[in-house]
Amino acid sequence: MWQNPQHPSDTPHDLSLNSKLPSVGTTIFTVMSKLAADEGAINLSQGYPDFDGPPLLLERVGHYLTNGYNQYPPMAGIEPLREAIANKVGTLYGAEIDAESEVTVTSGATEALFCAVTAVIQPGDEAIVFDPCYDAYEPAVTLAGGVCRHIPLQAPDFRIDWNRVADAIGPRTRLIMTNTPHNPTGAVWDADDIDNLRTVTAGHDLYVIADEVYEHIVFDGRPHVSLTRYPDLFARSFVVSSFGKTYHTTGWKVAYCVAPPPLTAEFRRIHQFVTFTTATPLQYGIADFLEKCPEHHENLAAFYQEKRDLFCGLLAESRFKLTPSAGTFFQLLDYGAITNEADTELAKRWTREEKVASIPISVFYLEPPHQELLRFCFAKDDATLERAAEILCRL
Ligand code: PMP
Ligand code: GLN
Repeated sequence: MWQNPQHPSDTPHDLSLNSKLPSVGTTIFTVMSKLAADEGAINLSQGYPDFDGPPLLLERVGHYLTNGYNQYPPMAGIEPLREAIANKVGTLYGAEIDAESEVTVTSGATEALFCAVTAVIQPGDEAIVFDPCYDAYEPAVTLAGGVCRHIPLQAPDFRIDWNRVADAIGPRTRLIMTNTPHNPTGAVWDADDIDNLRTVTAGHDLYVIADEVYEHIVFDGRPHVSLTRYPDLFARSFVVSSFGKTYHTTGWKVAYCVAPPPLTAEFRRIHQFVTFTTATPLQYGIADFLEKCPEHHENLAAFYQEKRDLFCGLLAESRFKLTPSAGTFFQLLDYGAITNEADTELAKRWTREEKVASIPISVFYLEPPHQELLRFCFAKDDATLERAAEILCRL
C-alpha cells in the first residue's frame, strides 16, 4: 500500500538538525526592522538609506538589464569592474592592485567575509575579534571550526587596547578581524593603530580580514587607513568593501575582496561554490558609473557628515549624551540620564511606544559591559531625521 512518506509515523528518525550555531538567533537587524514595520515606527535601526542611489547608476543598471546582460558573468567578476576597482584602490591608497589575480567581486561584503574566514580558519584555530563586533563575523568562524577570542573596545572612544591584542595572540591564533570605520560605534582607526597592528602581527603566521565597507564615510577630514596602503600588512590581508554603502544600494549586495594572489586564489576556490558570482547587470552598471562618476565617493563623507551634524545638532537639547561619530552612518546615543533599562528591552519599547527604532549595542558583545547605548542610523532624508529627533527630544 502506498504511504505518504511525509507522514510523521513513517519518519524513521528525528529530523530536527543538530545546529552548528545553537546560540545564534535571528539577527538584530531583521528583528528591529520587522518590529519597526509592524509598529509603524521611524526605522533608524538597520543600516540602510531611505533614499535611492545616483540616477545615472540606476539608469546604467537598467540599460544592461534590458539589453541582454542577464546571463552568468565570470566567476571572479566582470573584467571592467575588477579593473575599475583596482584603479580606484590604486588611486586612493597608492596600492598596485592586479585586477586579474587580486580582485574578486562578491554578493555583498557578507559573502566576502564568509569566504575569507573560510579560507583562513582551520578547525581549532582562533580568530581575534573586537567587541562590539559586527554580527556576521563569529558565525563564520564557528562554522569553519574556529573559536573567537573577543577583545572589548575601550569606551568612550572605542579604541583598541593593543596590549590586550598582543597578549591574546597564541600558537592557535590565525586571524584578526578589523573594522574601520567601525560598526556599531563609528570609531575610526588612525596611523597608530596601523603601527600597532604591524607590531602585534610581526613574526606570527596570521592573517587579517579588514572590513572596510565604510571606507568613504570618515568625517572631519581624517583619512581612511586602508590596509591596502601598507604593502607589508596587505601581504597578509583580505580587504573587503561594499558598493551597498557607497552607492546607497544596500539591497543590491555587490561588494568585493582585494587580497594578494595566493590569498585570492584560495578565496575564489570557496567563492565559486558559495555564490559562484554576482548579478551581471549590476556589475556592468557599477563599472560604468565608476568610470563616469568617480567623484561620487569623494563627496560621500561630506554628504554624511552633514547628516551626522544635523542629527546631533537636533539632539543638543535632548537628555541623550553623545560623542559625534567619527565615521559610518551610525550615531551612538547614551540614554543613561533617561532610564536604566536594558538596551535590548528599551530599543523594543521605544519602537512600540515612541515609534522610533534603534539597535541595542549589548548584542554585539560576548560579555556586555555596563553601558546604556543605542545605535541610530542617520542615512535618512533630513525630514526623517527631524521627525525622529523631535520624538527623541521629548524622552
Ligand atoms: N560589515 C559591516 C561592518 C557592515 O556594517 C555591513 C552591512 N551593513 C556588512 C559588513 C555587510 O555588507 P553587505 O551588505 O555588502 O553584505
Ligand atoms: N550592516 C547593517 C547594519 O549594521 C545591516 C545589514 C544586515 O541587516 N545584514 O545595520
